[in-house]
Amino acid sequence: MAPDITIVGQGICGSLLSWALMQRGLTVRVYDTGSHLSATAAASGIINPITGKRYVKSWRIDDLIPVAERTYAAMGQALSIQVYTPMPIYKLLGSVREQNDWSARTTDYAYQQYLSDTILHTLNKDWLLNDFGAFAIQGGGIVHTPSFLARYRDYLRDKEALCEESLTHEQALGLKGRVIFCDGYRSAREGLFTSLPWQIVKGEYLLIRMKDFYDDRIVGGDTTISPAGQPGLWYAGATYQWHYETTAPTQQYREEVIESLHQMLRIPFEVVHHGTGVRPSTRYRRPFIGFHPQHAHIGIFNGMGTKGMSLAPYWAERFASHIVTGEELPAEVALPGSLPVL
Ligand SMILES: Cc1cc2nc3c(=O)[nH]c(=O)nc-3n(C[C@H](O)[C@H](O)[C@H](O)COP(=O)(O)OP(=O)(O)OC[C@H]3O[C@@H](n4cnc5c(N)ncnc54)[C@H](O)[C@@H]3O)c2cc1C
Repeated sequence: MAPDITIVGQGICGSLLSWALMQRGLTVRVYDTGSHLSATAAASGIINPITGKRYVKSWRIDDLIPVAERTYAAMGQALSIQVYTPMPIYKLLGSVREQNDWSARTTDYAYQQYLSDTILHTLNKDWLLNDFGAFAIQGGGIVHTPSFLARYRDYLRDKEALCEESLTHEQALGLKGRVIFCDGYRSAREGLFTSLPWQIVKGEYLLIRMKDFYDDRIVGGDTTISPAGQPGLWYAGATYQWHYETTAPTQQYREEVIESLHQMLRIPFEVVHHGTGVRPSTRYRRPFIGFHPQHAHIGIFNGMGTKGMSLAPYWAERFASHIVTGEELPAEVALPGSLPVL
């Protein structure tokens, strides 16, 4: 029997949307071969409420984090794993000016829940160079993406809701019922949604082995170091490449991450893996959500850019409510009124 909704792709978007739809009583079928490049599988999984050099709150973060925490907890219970671990993020400061910028931010009431710790910390100086100290960001954490993707795939398979095949946009046009593309950067390359304002960004990262390092926090400096979910392993990266010739790992960016690590660490590390992914980012840093204006049964849930872990749970809920109850989607994420017809 045809499902209510067909979903193409089982990254964070396809996983969270299929979950939100099933929670509302709809039947789904998720297509994914598992062989395409997946941004989610490459991600460190960090949710960070305060980003950038100016320490600014991420877009809608006050709404996103409670939904992410609630959704990942519920999914963790269904999958019998811990999907998300709340964890502080320690940002290394590089100058007195950065110390002053951070200090000024702590006085802003809108930032209190994330910057309630107003102490300038000194991290372990045997491990890290931190002459100007570090500050702590609360409210973030890590989604354990490899185990989450694998267990949720098993969950879908058990429910006979997984189809381990590829589905193109052209094939989708011939299917009955609604089809929603959650196929990451591939929708920027082919099919019905290529004319949307994409700005895809490749990322390269390393998994490194160290004898001792923090496994209870994320450390941000020249690069970001976070626990990789296995004893003795940390994730380092990732890079941002707007122009690239290959989606494969490159020596140039391996060296870039290694150089950043040398700027931060006083301890030796061994590189055990070098991986890549392509972020489905968008020019205006807003997701693409909705149905094609000319092919009303073909939809897209995509464009989460660098922040899929925090954006996908909230927007999956909003999109699922839109599908089930007709609740309006905000104009900033909804699709434009005209798109090419295949
Ligand atoms: C190196 C790196 C580090 C990152 N770190 C973070 C981070 O710490 N925190 C954060 O929030 N975000 C991070 N991101 C961004 C995050 O990974 C993305 O926002 C998010 O994963 C996008 O999810 P998605 O489901 O849209 O796409 P994807 O994860 O790419 O999933 C798309 C899926 O579609 C499948 N697919 C494609 N075409 C077809 C087809 N024709 N038929 C069937 N299936 C198909 C693919 O196999 C894949 O499984 C990072 C990204 C990269 C690359």
